[in-house]
Amino acid sequence: MTKTAPVLPFKIGQGYDLHRLVVGQKLMIGGVQIESPVGCEAHSDGDVVLHALIDALLGACALGDIGDHFPPSDDQYKGMDSSAFVAKVLPLVTDTGYGTGNVDVTIFLEKPKLGPYKLAIREKLAQLLDLPLHCISVKAKTAEKFPPVGTQEAIAASVTVLLYLST
Ligand code: MG
Repeated sequence: MTKTAPVLPFKIGQGYDLHRLVVGQKLMIGGVQIESPVGCEAHSDGDVVLHALIDALLGACALGDIGDHFPPSDDQYKGMDSSAFVAKVLPLVTDTGYGTGNVDVTIFLEKPKLGPYKLAIREKLAQLLDLPLHCISVKAKTAEKFPPVGTQEAIAASVTVLLYLST
């Protein structure tokens, strides 16, 4: 028997992703292309922020994870712009009766420094989620030269979202 629970006014979700960095691939972060000699080795475009965001959204709704919805074994997702994954997941969230309230992103990357890109990433996320800029936070951290992020072998991202009951 399923335990009944009150309808929550808010739901929280968190997501995490990490990708290996290799020479000669493009580096996409939050839907923004970053100038870098290395990029992500991945089945799709390897955008760790969008992948962690999707897991956070799905997690808040208890709808599984990104691999359940977009299996890496499925060739239709090869090289895909991860913004398209976000566009497919948002209606699933809306269908549960919740809207996205705010998003807090932390990116872990040693190089290049992301300071010059943070506003562009926030703007892109705001556009993808149809939210005002003040609801989107993007923070960037290095890993103090500790592996694998600190040794420039990987990039990672952690995303927390808050959903609010909208119906
Ligand atoms: Mg990923």
